[in-house]
Formats: sequence, structure tokens, C-alpha cells
Amino acid sequence: MARIVMKFGGTSMAGIERIRTVANLVKREWEAGNEIAVVVSAMAGETDRLVNFCREASSLYDPREYDVVVSSGEQVTSGLLAIALQAVGVPARSWLGWQLPIRTSDGHASARIGDIDTRALNESLAERVVAVIPGFQGVATGERVTTLGRGGSDTSAVAMAAAMKADRCDIYTDVDGVYTTDPRIVPRARKLTKVTYEEMLELASVGAKVLQTRSVGLAMKEGVRVQVLSSFVGEDGAVRPGTLIVGEEEIDDMERQLITGIAHDKNEAKVTLVEVPDRPGAVAAIFGPLANAGINVDMIVQNVAHTTGSTDVTFTVPRADLPRALDTLDKERATIGFAKIVHDVRVAKISVVGVGMRSHAGVAATMFETLGSRGINILAITTSEIKVSVLIEEDYTELAVRVLHTAYGLDAPEDAAA
Ligand code: ADP
Ligand code: ASP
Ligand code: MG
Repeated sequence: MARIVMKFGGTSMAGIERIRTVANLVKREWEAGNEIAVVVSAMAGETDRLVNFCREASSLYDPREYDVVVSSGEQVTSGLLAIALQAVGVPARSWLGWQLPIRTSDGHASARIGDIDTRALNESLAERVVAVIPGFQGVATGERVTTLGRGGSDTSAVAMAAAMKADRCDIYTDVDGVYTTDPRIVPRARKLTKVTYEEMLELASVGAKVLQTRSVGLAMKEGVRVQVLSSFVGEDGAVRPGTLIVGEEEIDDMERQLITGIAHDKNEAKVTLVEVPDRPGAVAAIFGPLANAGINVDMIVQNVAHTTGSTDVTFTVPRADLPRALDTLDKERATIGFAKIVHDVRVAKISVVGVGMRSHAGVAATMFETLGSRGINILAITTSEIKVSVLIEEDYTELAVRVLHTAYGLDAPEDAAA
């Protein structure tokens, strides 16, 4: 007998037919004698719809009420899955975030899970009742409902697995594992049988949305065994093995590649401050106020000084924060002393990730040469120990990912293409 958390994403929960398929997958594990908690997402598209309602109601909506609205998608699917399970003879009940409870910080719309009370859950599992838990939601001080940020059901599942000391956390989605890049962009992307926590964390943080970044960080910290696999089963109802997220020691040298994956992110915006005085403290005057406004700056480039004693500073911020960033900088204009602000949202960040980079030179050079040979201009660069990212014009995103995938030898053989 094992304790398993099974998480199903939006596409897997999109409609009653799909929910029935999910119920049958859960039934298989339950009939095998396992203790099961299921974490569900809202139906695909539902959270977007709810977010739009809030925006329509007021552009300055109260984030506490936003959380009440957007968490409702998961309430619906958790109840529906419990009904579907009961209908196939599996005892089940739903537990909303506040009922368990799942305690979170009060950072509405991006709350962090603090503590999960598993007493009721343990009793339920001991009685062989499947617990169905809505992902993405929790409860903060004052008993206010919170949500965990977009894609947050992955984090709910991993946190649940850690709290329950589950043997496995299986994340069922609409692809059958983690690929070398988004298989919807590169059909010749290859499925990885294993990927390290560290690489998955880096891939998720630079745009591979197959797992929410926080869920990977939490799994790494708590040592949760995560598997990504598809809920779309064949005729026989059997699930195909997916991708395991593992510690580095579990990957043998034969399997190790120089580059593990490539990701892209269209959620950043580029800002350039033109003619910033070239003197000590000038950069601090720009990034201090942005930090105080809670805006994360990602890539930064400071250009060569003009003969006039000034310099241009370019950086990126999350696209959603651009209006606030521009407003913050405008208010600081006199202190910073720049001539003008230019911004561009038609940019994309392309990143290559791999632990092999630690011991091999030339990864960045290959990236620059490959993009250059296709006439793709690089607007900014950042690196970490296991990642190189470049900012390019958004129109070239798909082309850039494809040519880099080939350049690093990641393409699947022709006959094995997905
Ligand atoms: P869910 O609703 O199940 O949480 P998501 O849409 O959040 O699913 O994540 C799954 C999607 O992630 C896939 O459909 C795929 O397009 C995308 N994706 C991006 N990068 C990768 C990658 N490297 N491997 C697999 N899928 C990826
Ligand atoms: N439904 C939420 C979202 O769309 C959470 C999730 O699916 O993980 O962001
Ligand atoms: Mg997701």
C-alpha cells in the first residue's frame, strides 16, 4: 500500500467526460489498495474567465475579493470529481482549503502555504475515503480565502504530499512528461525520463509552465517524489510512464546531456531609461524604488557611457507590472535624472538550461552564434551557473527555440517525433 497524491490540471478536468476519465484513473489506484488524496484544478479556461470578471468589475479590485472569485473554479471541480468517484463506487468527499484547513500567508493572489492540518484527512484515508482537494486555494488570518498564484495547484499538490508524507506526487497533465522544450512549439522535442529538481526549477522559472516554479522548489526542499504524466490514457486505460523529478545523484553519466531543456517566456517587458547620469548611485536610484514597489527586475544591461557623461540603462520587468513600473520611475524622474523612458512589450526571453554547463564552456557562444546566423538580434543577456537567457523580439520566439533545439542536438530522431 502506498500513499499517493494525484493532481489533475485544467485540461484533465475540462468537462464531465474528462472528469469521469479522471475518476477511473483514481479508482485504479484506490482498488490497488492505496491511500489517495486528489488535488484538482479548475476546468481549463475557467480561471481566466473569473479573472476577467474581476477586471471588468473594477480595474482596482480588492485582491481579497479576487481570491474569493477565482478560487471558485476549483470548488466546482472538487465537488464534481467527488460525485464522479461515488458514481463509480469509490467513496470520496471534498475538502475545501478552509475546511482542512490549508493555512497560507495573507499575500492575496500569490499566497504561500504555511501549514496544512492533516488530521481530518488522515481519518478519511484510514476509512478508505478518497479526499478530493481543490488546488490553488487556502485560508489566511481572519479566515479569508487566498489563492497561490496562477498554476498554483501544482504547489497545492506538492505541499499536500509533503504534509501527508506521501510516497508519490503524480502530476497528471495534457502532455505525457517534461520535454526538452514545449512540445507544442517543437514537435521534435524529446521526453525526458528524469530531470533534476535543480534543472526543473530553473526551467519552470524561465517559462516552462508544465510545473509552477514554487511547486518544484517545495518538492526539492521537502524531498517529495514528483512524477509528471498524462491523464490522457489509451484504450486499455493504462497510464504511460512520465518524467520523474529526481536528485542529481539519481541521474547517471550516460543520461546526462550538456543542455537539458529550452524554455521561452513572453511575460516580460523591456524598459530603457535614456541618458541616465553616469555616476555612483545612479543605478541604485532606479532599482531601489522598483524594489520598494514590489516589482521584480530580471535582466539588466547598462550601456557604454555617452561622451555627455550619461548612459542608457535597459532592464525587464513582468509585463503585468509595466504600468506600475513606468509610474514609479516617472515619479522618481528628478532623483534619477534620466532624459526619457522607452518601453517595449513585444519581447521574449529564451533560456537554455543544463547542469552540464558547469563543466563545459561554449554554451553561450553556441547560443549567440545560432541566433546571429538566423538574423535574430539579442537585446539583453543574463546567466546563472546552469542557465543562459537572452531577450529577443517576440516575433522570433518560435524560430529561436527551434533552431537552438537543433543546435544543441536535442531533436528527437525523425521517426520518433511526437
Ligand atoms: P495543467 O492545466 O495540467 O496544469 P499546464 O497548461 O499548466 O497544464 O502545463 C502543461 C503545458 O505545459 C503543456 O501543454 C505544454 O504546452 C507546456 N509546456 C511548456 N514547456 C514544457 C516542457 N518543457 N515539457 C512539457 N510541457 C511543456
Ligand atoms: N486554476 C488555476 C490557474 O489556472 C490554478 C491551476 O490550474 O494550477 O492558474
Ligand atoms: Mg499548470
